[in-house]
Amino acid sequence: MILVTNDDGVDSPGLAALARALKAVDEVCVIAPNRNWTAAGHTKTLDRPLRVAKVTLHGTRLSAYSSDGSPSDCVALALLGLAPERPRLVVSGINTGPNMGSDITYSGTVSAAMEAVVSGVPGIAVSLADYYQWDFAYAAGFAARLAKRVLREGVDRDVLLNVNVPPLKRREIKGVQITSLGHREYRDELITRKDPFGRDYYWIGGGPPGGAGDPGTDLYAVAAGYVSITPVQIDLTHHALLEKISKWKLRA
Ligand code: MN
Repeated sequence: MILVTNDDGVDSPGLAALARALKAVDEVCVIAPNRNWTAAGHTKTLDRPLRVAKVTLHGTRLSAYSSDGSPSDCVALALLGLAPERPRLVVSGINTGPNMGSDITYSGTVSAAMEAVVSGVPGIAVSLADYYQWDFAYAAGFAARLAKRVLREGVDRDVLLNVNVPPLKRREIKGVQITSLGHREYRDELITRKDPFGRDYYWIGGGPPGGAGDPGTDLYAVAAGYVSITPVQIDLTHHALLEKISKWKLRA
């Protein structure tokens, strides 16, 4: 069984496209948030109970669970017993927008795959690298082929696959590149306005992030028309600095 979730919410057509494509690979169980959790990161809800409802996926006959928890809560719910059996794989997406470079530290899509990996189940995050226009057909088909391969070959523990698909037609896709995370540049700005009572409120606004990646990175591959797959490890230890700081001989 493959567990499918996302961070755009259970109504997202990207989730339905992914679930439908994965049904050809194995049985599918869908548990997704009941609202949009984009950029919610890796969240665990501990301060309130979680509610779950049965729904039908948008434009399909596939039944799904909808939860008021985060994407990573949805994965936890499934792995802790809500899914009828323990999933062999968790696939999250298809996100409406890229998740490349340091985006992954914010991404609910990637966090759901992270939750899977932390719990010992392989995880794949799939994002369509366009903020405004979404045709999920190619990305869904690619995700299904990759899922099949991951199930057959296996991947190392502690590693998820972060997939970004360029917003192109199948015949325009140049190929697949296995990449490292590129360097994102955010264009965030603080927008200050007044509420009806004269008090200031703030939006963190600005345009979509940029960043010209070097060859070999996810940013570069997607800009060049390639599907990007980045193996991402949960162990964030920086080993070179570990040795360097050890030499500081810090005293307790
Ligand atoms: Mn999203």
